[in-house]
Amino acid sequence: MTFYVSTPIYYVNARPHLGHAYTTIVADVVRRFQSMRDSQTYFLTGTDEHGDKVVQAAQKQGVSPRVYVDQISRLFRDLWPELNVRPDRFIRTTDSDHMAVVTEVLRKIHAAGDIYFSEYEGLYCFGCERFYAERELQEGRCPIHESEPELIRESNYFFRMSRYQGWLIDHLQSHPDFIRPERYRNEVLAFLREPLGDLCISRPKTRLTWGIPLPFDEAYVTYVWFDALLNYVSALGYPDGELFHRFWPAAQHIVAKDILKPHGIYWPCMLKAAGIPVYRHLNVHGYWNIEQRKMSKSLGNVIEPLEMRNVYGLDAFRYFLIREMTFGLDANFSESAMVQRINADLANDLGNLFSRVLSMTHKYFDGAVPELDPEVGRQYGLGLGPDARRTVDEYERAMEAFELHKALAAVWEFIGRMNRAIDIAAPWELAKKPATRKQLEAVIHSLLKGLRLISGLIYPVMPDTAARMQTHLGLDPEALYYALRDLRLWKPVPSGTRLPKTVMLFPRIEAAGEPAGASPAPPAAERGPETKPEATLEDFQRIDLRVATVLSAEPVPKAKKLLKLEVDLGERRTIVSGIAAHYTPEALVGRQVVIIANLRPVKLMGVVSQGMLLTAESEDGPVLILPEKPVAPGSGLR
Ligand SMILES: [Zn+2]
Repeated sequence: MTFYVSTPIYYVNARPHLGHAYTTIVADVVRRFQSMRDSQTYFLTGTDEHGDKVVQAAQKQGVSPRVYVDQISRLFRDLWPELNVRPDRFIRTTDSDHMAVVTEVLRKIHAAGDIYFSEYEGLYCFGCERFYAERELQEGRCPIHESEPELIRESNYFFRMSRYQGWLIDHLQSHPDFIRPERYRNEVLAFLREPLGDLCISRPKTRLTWGIPLPFDEAYVTYVWFDALLNYVSALGYPDGELFHRFWPAAQHIVAKDILKPHGIYWPCMLKAAGIPVYRHLNVHGYWNIEQRKMSKSLGNVIEPLEMRNVYGLDAFRYFLIREMTFGLDANFSESAMVQRINADLANDLGNLFSRVLSMTHKYFDGAVPELDPEVGRQYGLGLGPDARRTVDEYERAMEAFELHKALAAVWEFIGRMNRAIDIAAPWELAKKPATRKQLEAVIHSLLKGLRLISGLIYPVMPDTAARMQTHLGLDPEALYYALRDLRLWKPVPSGTRLPKTVMLFPRIEAAGEPAGASPAPPAAERGPETKPEATLEDFQRIDLRVATVLSAEPVPKAKKLLKLEVDLGERRTIVSGIAAHYTPEALVGRQVVIIANLRPVKLMGVVSQGMLLTAESEDGPVLILPEKPVAPGSGLR
């Protein structure tokens, strides 16, 4: 099987934002999924660099269009690897091989009589770089820019798109999922109920020189869509390239709904006119609104993908985008929704399941995957097999149909099923009696099997986490236990495999950068005299208190209360403490403090804190607890 996935080439009049990141991560996810099925894959993204908006943006910066497009294009190209996205090609419409293909296709369509010259007068929106028909305007204004278009008249070249209207309607009817989800197919069909006009494909050089010259008239350059859309075949080396033969027309285009029309109407008609088979599917997604509002530069709510990655972690960010948006519909982006999902789905459901099962394996079997007596397995296994198969089936169906959110929902349903199975089987009870040892083996064995399956299914969305899980299941992630046919076999983690020490996959994120215990103490008068419930010496000894020397201290960006400390307690630790309002970094470096060394790590504003600083609560805020004279770093307390 071959699978060719593309994002739109992004227009270089702005920096990459959340919308670009989403489309491109989706492409990466479906490509990774296809590689799980042993498909040969090709993944294309790039930048669209011609047109008057680019010229205007370059002028604003006082640089040539060439210098400007190089700058912005690089921002896009450099971003993708940071998000674990590795396209096979990053195409630019200023690439010479692309320009040659555009020239060739224009010549071909012109020779066939589908491009003609005509005078045109129309309402033109400079923001959109296109003419509008009256009926497309809203109260006489551009529906996107809400500005009045200008009436302009010029002679131009036109693509005889109207000729292909009937063919396109037939194609949409005989290929019901050509454009998906269905709402967008219906939108295109509704548009095609009106007569389809011809498409203006040129600009006179008197108005625009930053474009590809028409091969049949040097006084004109081609207009952006005819240039841009052809990237999907020029990247493959149309017409003779080996990649073109291998991957066309197995193309899956992914676009946001604002460019449905060019991709759903112009592009198939162009292909038809050029005698190129049409692409397989157009997959259309909705918009991300930010905190319920449209994302825009003027609202100042543009989300920087790298910032999100740095604060929340890459896999958590990717997971949120894919899980939160119903592919095709608009979704809302908010950091609080993201924190909620990270805590509920990742830290709780998946993270706890993983660490529970692994710690039980260590506790009861000294970290070695138990042997399984098949008879006992049949009798006392958790019966996860049928659920596992159903999960893989639904996962595959949903991924195939670009219902990525549903694929993840299916995996999380299975995670829930496993968590419930643990509660019912109660391995800690089975561990109490030698008579139930075999049952305990069967339960742990099935749970490890379940984790192996999950580690494979999350791979397209969270590749790093998948590898971490597999490493801690004693599997070699380089050997890629991700193939769907392998996952379908519902294989165990081999008995006797020694598991490395367990890790926490996703630390919980405390709300709004307020670490537990670092919130200001209530005034003394409000506090009752009563102490906490009685604790035994044993309880106290579970808390590992240590003296540590502060090596360095620095503020945590965007968190007024937090300082990030590097401390030495025999080993280096990072500790985030809510004392920034009361202690400067300078006042701390070199001092000895007391920390809780075995507190479960938490992530605060993107920094994992591996312990907590002891402070006394005073009316003036936290006061550090310090040893009376220097002691060796790491000294315990009693
Ligand atoms: Zn407009």
